[in-house]
Parts: sequence; C-alpha cells; structure tokens
Amino acid sequence: MKYYNVSDKSDVVDLRDAVLGCPTTRKVLYMPFELPDLSHLPGSINNPPGFCEIALAASQAMFKGDVPESCIEEIVNNAFTFEVPLVSIDKNIFVLELFHGPTLAFKDFGARFMSGLFRYLNRGESKKLTILVATSGDTGGAVADAFSGSDGIDVVILYPSGGVSPLQEKQLTTHGGNVSAIEVSGTFDDCQSLARQSFADPDLGLRMRLVSANSINFARLFPQSFYYMYASSFLKSRRRPLTISVPSGNFGNLTAGLMAYKMGTDIQKFVAACNSNRSVVDYLETGVFNPAPTIKTVSNAMDVGNPGNFPRMLNIFNNDLEAMKRIVHGYSCTDDETLEAMRELESVHGYLSDPHGAVAYRGLKEYLDDSFDGVYLATAHPSKFPDVLSAAGCSKPVIPGELAAIVGKPGRSIRLPVSFNLLKEYLLSRN
Ligand SMILES: *Cc1c(COP(=O)(O)O)cnc(C)c1O
Repeated sequence: MKYYNVSDKSDVVDLRDAVLGCPTTRKVLYMPFELPDLSHLPGSINNPPGFCEIALAASQAMFKGDVPESCIEEIVNNAFTFEVPLVSIDKNIFVLELFHGPTLAFKDFGARFMSGLFRYLNRGESKKLTILVATSGDTGGAVADAFSGSDGIDVVILYPSGGVSPLQEKQLTTHGGNVSAIEVSGTFDDCQSLARQSFADPDLGLRMRLVSANSINFARLFPQSFYYMYASSFLKSRRRPLTISVPSGNFGNLTAGLMAYKMGTDIQKFVAACNSNRSVVDYLETGVFNPAPTIKTVSNAMDVGNPGNFPRMLNIFNNDLEAMKRIVHGYSCTDDETLEAMRELESVHGYLSDPHGAVAYRGLKEYLDDSFDGVYLATAHPSKFPDVLSAAGCSKPVIPGELAAIVGKPGRSIRLPVSFNLLKEYLLSRN
C-alpha cells in the first residue's frame, strides 16, 4: 500500500516512510490510498467477534503485502492484552471503557500497536532509532511503557516541570533503561517547540535517526479504529442505529472513528465532544476553521487549540463541510458542565467517571434521541484525576494495582532549561 500526504497528493511514500519517517516526512499527515472494506468481520450477529479477532482481521487487510501475516498476529496479540468492556449506563446508553491498558488511558491502544509495527519495520537496522516525544500527560506514559525494553529503540520524553500530575510523572520517570525523561523548565508548548526544532535540525537529521510518536502518526491512528468496529459489532443484535461520542483534543481518536466508518462499520453518527477548546465545533457551525490559543480546562488531555488531525478529517470528507456535518455533530461544554456530568454519572447511574469521558457522556446525552443507541468513549481511568473528582464532589477513586505499584518507586529525570542547544547535546551524547 502507498500512502499520500493529505496536503500534497504528489508526495507518495511506502508504509515504512509513512510511519518511521525520514527528515522530510516527520510533520506530514499521511493517509493510505485505499482503506480496506471491513463491513464483513468474522463472527455473527449473535456471536460477535472478540477484540483481537477484529484487530487481526483489520490489520491483515490494511497491511497485507507490507507486513507478513505471522508478524501482524504477533503485533496484535502483544498489543491488546487487556479487556475492553462495554458497560451499560442507561437503557440506550453504553460506555466503552478504553482505560484498562497498562497506563490506564486509551493512548495504550495506539502506542502498543505502534511499538510492534515500529519494531517490525526497524528490524535489521544497525543504527539506533530515537523516539522523541513531548507530552502534557498521557501520551508520554503510553509511549514509554510501549517501548520500554525494546532493542535498538530509545525513547526520550520531554515534559513540562510541574505541568503533569505526580502520578503521570511517575509513569514517565520510573522505566529507566532505554527510556529517559527530561523535565523541561518551561511549558508544554516549550517542550513541543523543542521537539519540533530537533526534527527540523539538519545536523541532527544526519547524525541520528529521530522519529516522532505523536498522534499524527498513522501507526498510532489505525489501531484506534478497532474499538469502533468492536462496539458496533457488539451492539449489532439490537438492530438500532448507533451514535458514538468521542472526547476530543487533537482529534486522533475521532479521525480513527471516521476511518472505521469509511471501512464499512455500521455507525450512523459521531459526536465530536470538546471542552472549551472548540475550534472544530465552531468549524462545524460556521464553516470557518480558526485555530485558537489553548484554554486550560479540567479535562486537560483535550486542551488543544489547533488540533493536528483536523486536515485528515477534512480529507476523509473531501473537504465537503456538508458531508462532514451529516456524520459529525459538534458539542462543547464548560468546566462546570463537565463537573456536573461527573456528578450525574455517579449519583444517577452509580458510575465513577473521569472528566474526559464525562464530556463525551454529556455530548451524547444532549444529542441522542430514543430511536438511537449511544456509546461514549471513556478515555482514562478516574483514578488518574483525583483532584477533579474531588472538585466535582465525587467519591475517591481506587487506584488500580498497576498504578499503585509505581507510586512508591523512585523516579529519575534530567532537568533541562528551554534550550535547544542543550537538548541537542544531550541527544547526541546518547547516540
Ligand atoms: C489524548 C486524550 C484525549 C484526546 O484524544 P485525541 O485523540 O487527542 O482527540 C482524550 N482523553 C484522554 C484521557 C486523553 O489522554
């Protein structure tokens, strides 16, 4: 399969360059020329396929000819080792819990599959691959965990000092080995700009193999389409149209849902559920895309003013706003409304929710009528956000064993001022 650049269709690369990148392709959004038809997955209406069965069928179809079947099977089986429960909340509302992976956020789906694919595509390389990632929370932890202990691959994480929760910091700093965490005396934007400068530096490009692992990477995006297929086939026997509500920030998750739709998954509508960072919601209302400065909210993993995957969403609908509006409904809520939704989920439905899932729940509730089934995606375990739960007046969440275990572990990080030269020196010293 060949992949093209959504902003320049003459820029065509193979799978390896689309995901591992080379100096000129790191910031590019690639899409495959064709998505496979997956409207007929294994299993039947009364006996829906399991998650790994779906992941395997979809990956075999997508990467046929590029990755041998036995390797795909290994990638899938190593990646999805945790459960994906669909929990009933109300008569026609379900929550798909995507937070049972090792770092307790849905980013594990993309990061773990990407890690397997990177390792396959990187086989036989003598020169080390370095993954550089700037994080404000969940991405760094998922990438660190997914690549921890991988031969020939180093991970360098940049995070803002004081800008991630204590638990998230432990998830970045307790791996050691091939994973190093750099605490930058600056903001998340400073971290991102340091990463960008590194990718753009021709000297670094010559001296080391540097790759990005953010959600514009197709290898992270594609596996996120599997759980949309899973929810749809699970609910098929109810024979009702389906709406899926997606808590959105950089819009990788929703883009993956739209890809599932394009591949024939039976989903009638998506709710793009946002906090006060509402540039895509405004676009759906006005037809004008105006990226705005980021606003801080209680659903902080969705605090993105200029969503990186937006051009891919446009591409999926051939830049046709009306076509996008038929499938995607925009929703945005305030912090007070998010906290209120968290309270409602606990007091009315007995369900303890994290703030991101609560935004999606609220967007779904406002949109849904009785003729539809609705699923909203819960993207993180509530125990990752104890302060927000307490602000909402919800119960104290129990930290699951995996996470509780790292709380007492000593973390290790390197402190760095916002200086590209010092970062470059550090990167080269590891090479
Ligand atoms: C990253 C993240 C999101 C936003 O997902 P996008 O793909 O960036 O839209 C939502 N919730 C949580 C918990 C996240 O970590």
